[in-house]
Amino acid sequence: MHMRQLDARNYYTATKKYHLGFGRLEQDIDADVVVVGGGFSGINTSLELAEKGITNIVVLEARYLGYGGTGRNGGQVMAGIGHDIDLVKKHVGPEGLEVLFKIANLGAGIIKSRVAQYGIDADFRHGYGYMGFNKRQEKTLFQWYKEFKEIDPDSQIDFVTGSEVRSMVGSDAYWCGIRHMGGGHVHALNLLLGEAKALTGYGAKIFENSPVIDVTYGDRITVRTAAGSVRAQKLLWACNGFLDGLEPEIDQKTINTYAFQIATEPLPEDLILRISPIRGAYSDIRPVIDYYRVTNENRLLFGSATPFMEYIPADLAAWNRALMLKIFPYLKDVKIDMAWGGPLCCSANLFPQIGTLRNRPNAFYVQGYSGFGVTPSHIVCKVLAEGMSEGSARYDLMTSIPHLRVFGKDALRPAMMSAAKTWHQLSGYFNGRR
Ligand SMILES: Cc1cc2nc3c(=O)[nH]c(=O)nc-3n(C[C@H](O)[C@H](O)[C@H](O)COP(=O)(O)OP(=O)(O)OC[C@H]3O[C@@H](n4cnc5c(N)ncnc54)[C@H](O)[C@@H]3O)c2cc1C
Repeated sequence: MHMRQLDARNYYTATKKYHLGFGRLEQDIDADVVVVGGGFSGINTSLELAEKGITNIVVLEARYLGYGGTGRNGGQVMAGIGHDIDLVKKHVGPEGLEVLFKIANLGAGIIKSRVAQYGIDADFRHGYGYMGFNKRQEKTLFQWYKEFKEIDPDSQIDFVTGSEVRSMVGSDAYWCGIRHMGGGHVHALNLLLGEAKALTGYGAKIFENSPVIDVTYGDRITVRTAAGSVRAQKLLWACNGFLDGLEPEIDQKTINTYAFQIATEPLPEDLILRISPIRGAYSDIRPVIDYYRVTNENRLLFGSATPFMEYIPADLAAWNRALMLKIFPYLKDVKIDMAWGGPLCCSANLFPQIGTLRNRPNAFYVQGYSGFGVTPSHIVCKVLAEGMSEGSARYDLMTSIPHLRVFGKDALRPAMMSAAKTWHQLSGYFNGRR
């Protein structure tokens, strides 16, 4: 019963500006590349390939473009690629880590240039705040601040503490923060749809309401839906948290947790400026974050996940509102217009996974953004498209990171996620995240 709320009408579908409406696959066709999944991963990788001249691409989406996490998220455009890049150091060494740091900073730039190149109407706005509640987090954030400045010297990035914090965000909850004007936020669904429109401009085909039900691997791969098929040289699995066991080899490498979002009613301009003088996006740095932003229509979008126990709250609006009031008590009389949620596909090291299936070099996959997919998907899919075409050193580097199997995830998912969250929360005291 609670699961049904996750699919409820959300802010993105209510404000979408592109009405593309792709038909269902009802024929047998040949392609160079077939992509399963019409979210940021599927569309972005396809667009990257199309820009390289590989345009005979078919994208198959089970429901409609953006039905998955891509049309449900917070729209945060933040730095980074995984939760803690240091966790993969042992696999890539110090030099590899250096490369990953550089890759990790590309995301906002890719989104901005997409928007500019294709004239995408997606409300992109600069201004991101990374917030801390205490002195332990201040130490962590100050380290981040130095790293951000080093890797992105052209962006305005400030470290603020004490009363200055209130010039960033209208809340007494925080002790410190980083104001990063290189990051920001975006209407995720309109961004996706603008990218999909650009993709079709290259001649690629997209089919909606076309769930893939069967795949036959080989030199050419055949993908079947209820009413048609695509035979292609290469396949990309891009279903992330919605794969639902369809390809067991990659399904075993991740586990889902859930995140929940609300959108307030449109707020008066003075209240919006009290919340965020920069009309920006924010998150804290705890192991399970609160994240929020103001929208073009003056709504506050606020999201989070359960911090310890894994469960889906019975009333998503009330649950998220209580969290919002801890940060902004003066919003107590504000109405919540929409509440929704969805699965976050997590990998064991919380780092996104790209690669090919075992002994199937033409069957690629991308998944496991572990809650941070808006910006990272734009980075990761660029690297993935390199691997699917001419090859690249950074594709080899990313695919050298092992993707551990998550044992027992089906029967024990809530218990395993509760244990993992508790572990992350406790270790947060020692790694400066709590
Ligand atoms: C509530 C919520 C809040 C989030 N907040 C943030 C945030 O603030 N910042 C951030 O960076 N990230 C956030 N994320 C995560 C981010 O949205 C995702 O990581 C990202 O959108 C993943 O994109 P994707 O294309 O890989 O997967 P998805 O967007 O989930 O797309 C997968 C698609 O595959 C399709 N599919 C599944 N099975 C089949 C099949 N058999 N045949 C054809 N198609 C199929 C699905 O219908 C779906 O459209 C959030 C996610 C959720 C759910």
